[in-house]
Amino acid sequence: MGVDWHSSMASSSTTAARRGRFAPSPTGPLHFGSLIAAVGSYLDARANRGEWLVRIDDLDRTRIVPGAAAGILGTLETLGMAWDGAVLYQSKRDEAYRAALEKLKKRDLIYPCSCSRREIADSAVAGIDGPVYPGTCRKGLLSGRAAQAERILTLGAKIEFKDAVQGKITHNIERQIGDYVLKRADGLYAYQLAVVVDDEAHDITDIVRGADLLDSTPRQIYLQQLLGYTMPRYAHLPVAVNVVGEKLSKQTMAAPVDATTPVPILNAALTFLGQDHVDCAPQDTQSFWKQAVAGWRMDRVPRTRTSPAPALP
Ligand SMILES: [Zn+2]
Repeated sequence: MGVDWHSSMASSSTTAARRGRFAPSPTGPLHFGSLIAAVGSYLDARANRGEWLVRIDDLDRTRIVPGAAAGILGTLETLGMAWDGAVLYQSKRDEAYRAALEKLKKRDLIYPCSCSRREIADSAVAGIDGPVYPGTCRKGLLSGRAAQAERILTLGAKIEFKDAVQGKITHNIERQIGDYVLKRADGLYAYQLAVVVDDEAHDITDIVRGADLLDSTPRQIYLQQLLGYTMPRYAHLPVAVNVVGEKLSKQTMAAPVDATTPVPILNAALTFLGQDHVDCAPQDTQSFWKQAVAGWRMDRVPRTRTSPAPALP
């Protein structure tokens, strides 16, 4: 275990009723797409007198870029976005993920799977996030095959939740996703499990993030239900896309956020989120945040999953 959030909070006198978080993957510098999630989650927390945590989602060691986490944190600081407590790292939390998986195993909800990606693609129908796992290994591994991954039984689970931006979402996990992986063939715990375990451990009450994760949310709520966790509130913000409709990301060559004059880029993020522009000097982040927090209205965020990125200052 790395940083113990609860003991670090014990020295703090605040017990906020609301707690949000920003959880970037350290795969490259902060770009406008991830800035939207940072700004939205920050404003939602601060406008409700809540705390705002930063968690580095470095679960997938194969995708980590050395120095990227420090770069993202440095950019947040330059933008005047102060977080509460210590920065959390998923790569130090394997023991907590293992314990949660063990709890599900004791209830016979987990089974080993020996299917290759190719076999699943060949025998499955298309779902909302790749092929729907057809349940091949539910009744046991094919003879002579070694387990590759561990999956959770979805058993017709129907999930329904109200998203503060995207509205009512209903989802049949078994039909739209299939039994999904909680521990990967390479031994890493799956994102869906890690996120749920961490949000519970850190008492996150409000998850504000990009709508590219909206289809993951029912899988996460299903795990919260099975593990007896508290379900946070959700708000999925529109995702910034480029002129050809691709999500801004490292893969689509999104430019890093240039924080040397912070206010214009922060105003671009505010406008993208349907909020009023803040008038202040280009370096005056303190004044910017004071006004942006006072003016924050979640109900003004555009109710779309994607939106074109603006021309950046
Ligand atoms: Zn299988």
